[in-house]
Amino acid sequence: MSEEQAQDIPEQRGSMPDHEALVIGAGVAGIYQIKRLTDMGVDAMLIEADEDLGGTWFRNRYPGARFDSESYTYGYSFSKELLNEWSWSERFSGQPENLRYLNFVADKFDLRKHMRFNCRVASMRFDEDESFWTITLTNGQEMSARFVVSGLGLLSMPTPPRFDGMETFEGESWHTYYWPKEPVDLSDKRVAVIGTGATGIQVIAEIADKVGHLTVLQRRPNWSAPLNNAPISPEEMDDIRSRYDEIYAACARTPGGFEHEPDRRGFWNVTREERLAIWDDLYEQPGFGIWLRNFAEIFTDEEAGAEFSEYIADRIRARVDDPEIADKLIPKDHLFGMQRVPLETKYFEVYNQPNVDLVDVTATPIEAITPTGVKTTEAEFEFDVIVYATGFDAITGAYDRIDISGIGGQRLGEKWSDGPTTYMGLMVNGFPNLFMIAGPQGASASSNFPRSIEQAVNWISDLLGHVRDNGASRVEATEAAQVDWTTHVASMYPRFLIGRGKGWITGYNSNVEGRVEGVIRHGVYNGGAPKYHKRLKEIKERGYEGVAIT
Ligand code: NAP
Repeated sequence: MSEEQAQDIPEQRGSMPDHEALVIGAGVAGIYQIKRLTDMGVDAMLIEADEDLGGTWFRNRYPGARFDSESYTYGYSFSKELLNEWSWSERFSGQPENLRYLNFVADKFDLRKHMRFNCRVASMRFDEDESFWTITLTNGQEMSARFVVSGLGLLSMPTPPRFDGMETFEGESWHTYYWPKEPVDLSDKRVAVIGTGATGIQVIAEIADKVGHLTVLQRRPNWSAPLNNAPISPEEMDDIRSRYDEIYAACARTPGGFEHEPDRRGFWNVTREERLAIWDDLYEQPGFGIWLRNFAEIFTDEEAGAEFSEYIADRIRARVDDPEIADKLIPKDHLFGMQRVPLETKYFEVYNQPNVDLVDVTATPIEAITPTGVKTTEAEFEFDVIVYATGFDAITGAYDRIDISGIGGQRLGEKWSDGPTTYMGLMVNGFPNLFMIAGPQGASASSNFPRSIEQAVNWISDLLGHVRDNGASRVEATEAAQVDWTTHVASMYPRFLIGRGKGWITGYNSNVEGRVEGVIRHGVYNGGAPKYHKRLKEIKERGYEGVAIT
């Protein structure tokens, strides 16, 4: 079904909204939100732009796409029954299984009946007299709701590069977000991958031995360390099941919302030999252990960060045969952890294969895409397939794409043109009755996504319950509360090295017009999930401090 034939949406009825609540997006956030709202007896509907549910896991079908969170810490925690019924097959499960899981959840709780697909929102307008939102889809259909809860996603607005000639390429090309659903046969093909972030690193490692020839066009290398994935046996799954309470309690304690707790002995309180022994152990451990179980100083202290980065550089040198190639794969412009760390499976060994080349497109920039391949300042390359693993207009991109107008016709995109401003990442002053589940300035982007998503959904649902109980029809963050929160979020950036990194956490993306390198957009709360969740709890306990309910 196309967006023109969006599923059976009732037409707007006079001055009463069609629904009490509308949820946008059927990803991890929207699926739980629609469950909570309908469980509460709210007349709610979920609309999704794609033809089916899954969000990130519906879209990113590129080879190698998988969790970097331990699967059993990524799943929802809200239902013991669900935890008992679902088994993960791998410690870091892949996209097909992740999508199956989300379908399992939706089917188990019979949530599809509240979902409408092929509904891409073009605009949203708040009616000040009636206090409800009118939503217009790209096919012109309108619907309205008292409350709108956005589960739009932080990494759902892909950004292909803006090279001349892209449309002239005669082979096949995609952004990884749009990797085709149908199997793609890359054998014997000359394939280019542009981009070496978390996505590029996953796709490169997965396809290198399945393609005819692979050329990686790398602008800046990323620090990366082994994922150390492994299957989960039925016995291990039973053990995980018996420890779920403990596992989720550990996730709730740690800044990143993972099981990994930082080493608080103090970087400088142990000898270099002890540090090396700890790192040797961490390098073999699964997931973000290498980053998040490390000494807390690597997040704040440049000297500590430099010593650890050099340790990882040595690991890269040991894994790549050609010292010149190894050197190209070692970042020089940032320390380990200053950008979100991609995790890899035999990524560096790929460059030992005779069918793989690495081209440094900082030294020899891409000038254009030609009908037959890529032209850099130094050479012309011929390709059958070009894969753009070039990232996202993260955090605010999905919001900017919708024309959202609030009080006095103010546009959200304009309000956020220099960077987002929110109350707790959940609400925006001037845009009443609108909530964001994994919104800008929340804890989701800096933590294990679903752990913060569940907390945000619970908070929003409780607030809506409170609003209903009080017979109110309008709820809005106060300007003062928003200024306080935005100032606090901004104040955390200089405290951590990641606040100076170049990438989506600081809001830089060369493919988005108007973004200026070095000008930080404060879109991520870097104070750690426990502090953020404590603050949410306190706000609720104080009768929703900072929120005007009328
Ligand atoms: P990304 O981290 O923004 O990386 C984009 C890559 O493309 C960078 O290497 C960038 O180079 C390069 N690039 C962009 N535009 C380019 C251009 N015009 N010419 C040449 N190179 C260009 O995006 P991502 O890899 O999609 O990852 C984004 C986030 O998604 C991750 O940080 C993570 O949070 C999430 N993710 C998670 C997983 C997982 O394991 N669960 C997997 C994938 C993604 P520069 O560095 O020079 O800008």
